[in-house]
Amino acid sequence: MKRLYWTQPDVFEADVEVVAVGPSKVTIDPILFHPDEGGQPADRGAIGEAVVKDVQVVDGKIVHTLDRPLADGRYIARLDQERRLHTATQHTAQHILSGIAAAQFGWQTVGVHIGLESGTVDFDKKIEWDLAEDLERRVLDVVMLDVAVETTFNDPDMQTRSRRGEGVPPLLTAPCEGRSKGKMPSPREVIRIVRIGDIDKSACCGAHVKTTGRIGLVWIFDLDNRKEGTRLSFLAGQKALERSQFETAILRELRKMACCATADLPAIYQKALDRSKELAKEADRVWSLRLADLAKSAEAVTIGSSTVGVYVGELPRGLVSVLAGMITEATSGAGVVVSDTNIAISSKTLDAGGLLKRIQAVIGGKGGGSPKSANGRLNRPVALNELVDIIREQ
Ligand SMILES: [Zn+2]
Repeated sequence: MKRLYWTQPDVFEADVEVVAVGPSKVTIDPILFHPDEGGQPADRGAIGEAVVKDVQVVDGKIVHTLDRPLADGRYIARLDQERRLHTATQHTAQHILSGIAAAQFGWQTVGVHIGLESGTVDFDKKIEWDLAEDLERRVLDVVMLDVAVETTFNDPDMQTRSRRGEGVPPLLTAPCEGRSKGKMPSPREVIRIVRIGDIDKSACCGAHVKTTGRIGLVWIFDLDNRKEGTRLSFLAGQKALERSQFETAILRELRKMACCATADLPAIYQKALDRSKELAKEADRVWSLRLADLAKSAEAVTIGSSTVGVYVGELPRGLVSVLAGMITEATSGAGVVVSDTNIAISSKTLDAGGLLKRIQAVIGGKGGGSPKSANGRLNRPVALNELVDIIREQ
């Protein structure tokens, strides 16, 4: 069956012959909707009055799942144009990224994903930002040249190149109608080749834009260096502009807060972080001087022959366990300390882990420990009276 998007990427509406193949499932001819295939999401839209909810390749057929049953016959099918333009733009941008990356930098593409928000390309090499920015500039050159995105079929040169293991890797030759990754096509099989000037030439089933000028900005916004290579995240067209506006707004806000230029922000941020660490250390030192008094101020609760000292109040997180230990020494029993939602229990006489579990059973939270010491977080702050009541309830 004829896939319109292979040769006519600007066709978003067509008169189609519908054949039902299941409950609310149909095939159509010609094929207007791109299925969920080759890392590119399925198109959406409508066939007659029915809404197209999904498009999948099933046993070599492109099956459309609708929101209602549709009788066999002729209907007007319409694409969700915005969604198609987005996926086709990202997908064509990926061809250019992969083509230039291979030719200029020797990075082979080993994985591709075109999402509804952004796209990723997995390369087989570690990539540094300076080269990624170089790639970005080269991609823009290709966009500005407005190169045609051309389709041909069963290009013998392409098959020869693939056999020799040259050119694009098998993954870019996205599986068409069940053709498995890396498997050579049979002579009768229709293979569609997509060529973008001398930038890229790949066997591909996807939907693309007609010329590279339709893509607009291609923006690499993240590099994730992994053991086996690098995942490059990118955006193209309208989505690239939207993200750029979002990040520019954040920078504007930060500049306003720091009263500085964008270039000065990293140094100012680092200085603030360093200062914050110094202050935290100083605060810990001052609190440490008060710990002995805080241990004395703990509320004493008698449980059997044990004395449990309970403290609820402000305290740096790192000192919660320290104070619990000091209260335990002072009472020769147990110490329970809660600061905000942090809790620590130390004990010579009771089961600290068991007591924490009882408190968590009422307040909720995470953490655990041994009979001698336990710590964790509570789901909410707790008042001294409430905590004492829980501890008393044996
Ligand atoms: Zn493609």
